[in-house]
Amino acid sequence: MRVLKFGGSSLADFDCLQRVQSLVSNYSSDNAVVVLSAPGGMTDQLVSLADCAAKGADYEPLWAAFESRCLSLKEVVESKYGSLAGWPDLGSLKDKLAGVKLLKQCPEAVNAFIISFGERISVALMVNMLKNQNARALDATQCIKTQSQYLDSEVQLEQTKVALAQQIEANGSGIYIIAGFTGSNELGELTTLGRNGSDYSAAVIAASINAEICQIWTDVDGVYSADPRLIKKATKVAKLSYKEAMELAYFGAKVLHPKTILPCAKANVPCEIKNTHDPDVPGSMISTHSDNDSPVKALSSLDKLAMLTVAGPGMKGKVGMAARVFSALANDNVSIVLITQSSCEFSISFCVYEQDLPLAMQALQSAFELETKAGLIEPIEVQKDLAIVTLVGDNMRSHKGLAAKFFASLAQAQVNIVAIAQDSTESAISAVVPGELCKDAMKVCHENFFTHVPSIDVFLLGCGLVGTELVQQLKKQQKWLANRNIKLNLYGVANSKKCLLSAEGIQSDNWQAQLESSEVSFSIDRLEHFVKSNHLINPVIVDCSSSQLLADQYSQFLQAGFHVVAANKKANTGDMAYYRELKQAAVNSGRKFLYETNVGAGLPVLDNLQLLFGAGDELLSFSGILSGSLSYMFGAIEDGLSLSQATAQAKQNGFTEPDPRDDLSGTDVARKLLIIAREAGLDLELDDIEVESVVPDDFAKGTNVDEFMARLPELDATFADRVQSAASEGKKLRYVGSIVNGKCRVGIEAVDTQHALFDIRDGENALAILSQYYQPKPFVIRGYGAGAEVTAAGVFADILKTLSR
Ligand code: ADP
Ligand code: ASP
Ligand code: MG
Repeated sequence: MRVLKFGGSSLADFDCLQRVQSLVSNYSSDNAVVVLSAPGGMTDQLVSLADCAAKGADYEPLWAAFESRCLSLKEVVESKYGSLAGWPDLGSLKDKLAGVKLLKQCPEAVNAFIISFGERISVALMVNMLKNQNARALDATQCIKTQSQYLDSEVQLEQTKVALAQQIEANGSGIYIIAGFTGSNELGELTTLGRNGSDYSAAVIAASINAEICQIWTDVDGVYSADPRLIKKATKVAKLSYKEAMELAYFGAKVLHPKTILPCAKANVPCEIKNTHDPDVPGSMISTHSDNDSPVKALSSLDKLAMLTVAGPGMKGKVGMAARVFSALANDNVSIVLITQSSCEFSISFCVYEQDLPLAMQALQSAFELETKAGLIEPIEVQKDLAIVTLVGDNMRSHKGLAAKFFASLAQAQVNIVAIAQDSTESAISAVVPGELCKDAMKVCHENFFTHVPSIDVFLLGCGLVGTELVQQLKKQQKWLANRNIKLNLYGVANSKKCLLSAEGIQSDNWQAQLESSEVSFSIDRLEHFVKSNHLINPVIVDCSSSQLLADQYSQFLQAGFHVVAANKKANTGDMAYYRELKQAAVNSGRKFLYETNVGAGLPVLDNLQLLFGAGDELLSFSGILSGSLSYMFGAIEDGLSLSQATAQAKQNGFTEPDPRDDLSGTDVARKLLIIAREAGLDLELDDIEVESVVPDDFAKGTNVDEFMARLPELDATFADRVQSAASEGKKLRYVGSIVNGKCRVGIEAVDTQHALFDIRDGENALAILSQYYQPKPFVIRGYGAGAEVTAAGVFADILKTLSR
C-alpha cells in the first residue's frame, strides 16, 4: 500500500483539487491512504479567527471570507461530482468561535478543534471527487493516537498501528482519505500535530501500515539544495539519506515537517517528495541510500530565534547544571533548537524560538532563583533576532576543509557568527547568525558550495573618460564573464552631483542621460541601504574620479563592507597615517583595497612589486618614466621640436591634462613615485619627495592656460641648451622618478644608451626595478601607461580580483 500526502499548496483551489483527484486515480491503483492538508492558507485563516475571537474582537469579516471560501469550494465540487456527503458542520465551528469571543480566551482543546477544521473540509471534498474510485473517509481521530496535549502533540506509534489496522480491516481495501495534522489523545479528544504537521501524519501512517512508499506531494520538484523561494539557483537533490533529510527539516527546510523522517526511517519506508503541478518530473527520494558524489547536500535556514546564555561562577565544574537548565525548559515545553557550551563550562548558550522566549526566561529565572540571589548565576543574557544557517551532508565527515569553507563564506558575506554547532556524526554544521543577514549568508554559502557562480556587484563613482570606457568594457565582457561562471553587475553610477542605482543592474546604453535626470546624490548611507535591501554580497566601489572627498571616505567604504578599487591616486598619496588606516581597514573588514592603475595605468606594476617584496625581495633602487604625457613630450623634443612646440603638440593630441602645467610640474609623477616607495616599505610623505618641475616654479605664475602657452617659448632656448649638452655626451633627456638609498626624486635626467629608459618615449611608461633578486640588470616593466582604454582595463582587472576564489 502507498501513502500519498497532499499539502495545502496542492489543494488551494478547485483546479488543484482536480489535479489531486486525477493523480490519486493514476498513482494509487485501488489501494492507498491519501492524507490531506487543509486547502492552502486555510489553516492560517482559522488561526486568525481563533486569535481574533480570543481577543474579544470582531471576527465577522474573517468569518465571512472563510465561510464563502468553503461554500464556493463545496458548490463547485457538487456541481461537477454531485451532492456531497460528510460535509463538516460550519455551524459548530461558528459556535465555538462565539464561545471563545465571550470568554476572551481560547482553551487549547477548542483551539485544536478550530485550527484542524480545514483538513476536514479537504477530506469531505476529495471523498466526493473520488467516490467512483471506491474512496472512503477515515476518521483521523479514530486512527492517529497521540499524547494528551492538544497542540503540537506527539504520536503514539504503537497505539496508532493498532487503531489504523482496525479501521482498515473494518473497511476493506480501497482508497482511504484521511485528514492530516489531526489525531486524538487517550481520552478520545481531538489533538493536532503542530503547524505543517500533515507530513508527520503521513509518515506515521506509512510506518504503521508498513507502506511501500510515503509520497509527499507539494509545490516543488523535491528537496532542493536550499529553499528555492530564498535562493533562485537552488537545484534538486535526487537522493538523500534519512539523516540528511532529518537535519534539513529540523533546521528549517519547510518542505518536510521535522518529525516526518523518523517514523519512516524506523520502519524503513522510503519517502519521496514530488510536485503535484508537474508529476512526471522525478522527485527526491529519501531512504537509506544517499548520493555519494557530493559531500554537501543542501543548506537550510531557520529564523526568528533567540539565544540565551546562562553563565556565572556557579556553573563551573558543577555536575548537573546543564541538566537543570534543560529540564527547567523541558518542564515548560520549551523546545531547544541548538546548544553550545564554553569549554571552561562557565556558560551554556542555546537557541529557542522567539515565541517561546518569555516562557523560557520565566522557567530559568524560577529554576535558578536562589543561585541568582547568591551571585552564583549572572542575569540571563538574551540575544534576539537570530537565525541558524546549516550545511547538511552525510559525506562531510570524510572531507576536510568544509567547515573552514563554510565559515570563510560567512566572513565573505560580512556575517558575524554568534555561535556554532556541529552534530556528532558530522552530518550537519550550523552557525547562529544575525537574522537580518541570514539571506546574505545563505546566498554566499550557496554560491560557494553549489552554483559556483560568484558575483561582483559594482558601483562606479566618476563618469569621466575612464569611467565611461569602463562601463563599455563591462558590457562587452559579459559573455566572457558568463563563460567563466562570473556574474558581474553594474548596480550604480554616480558623479559629483548625481547617483543612479538600479536593482536590476544598469544595462541601458542610455545610462548617462538617466544619471543626469536622477533626483538623488551619492552617499555612503544610500549605497549601504541599497546593498542591504538587495542582499548584494560582493559590493565593489570603483572610484574613477580624482575627488579628494571620495578618497577621504575609503576607510568608511571598507568598514561598511565594500571592496574599493581606485583609479584615483588621492587616497594613497595622503598622509602615511591614512595610508596605514586604509590597509588596516581592508584587513579588518576582509575586503580588498586595490589601486593597480595608480601607477602605469593598466600595466601590472604594483601587483608585481607586492608579489616580489612579499617573496622576500628588497628594493635597491628604482628609476622610471611614470608620466605618459612627459614621455610623449620628451620624445617629440628628441625629434627636434622645442619645449613649447612639444607641449602644444601633446596638448593638441590629448596627451596632457587640460592645463599642461599639471603634467609639467611633476606633481603627478611624484604621487606615483610615492606610491611605489610606500609599496617598497618606505615611510614617506609627498613633501619628502624632491620635485624638479620641467618649467621653473615661478614661471608665468597666475596666468591662464592660453597665456601660459603663449609665454612658454621664452623657455625654449635654455631648454634646447640642456638637450644639446646631453646630446654631446650621447645622452637623451627623460623625465624620471627615482628612488636611491631611500631618497625619492622626480625630475629631468640625461640617460645614456645603456640606461633602461633610453628608448622610452611616445607615451610609453617604463619602470626599472633594481633589487636583491634582479641585479645587476634591473627588472623592467614597459608599455603604454596612459589612456582611457588601458586604464579602464586595469580597473577591470582589479575588479575581478575581488572574487574570493
Ligand atoms: P505544502 O503545502 O505542500 O505542505 P510547504 O509550503 O509546507 O508545502 O512546503 C513546500 C515549500 O518548502 C516549498 O515551496 C519551498 O519554498 C519550501 N522549502 C524550504 N526549503 C526547501 C528545500 N530545501 N527544498 C525544497 N523546498 C523547500
Ligand atoms: N494545515 C496545517 C498547517 O497549515 C497542517 C499542514 O498543512 O501540514 O499547518
Ligand atoms: Mg508542508
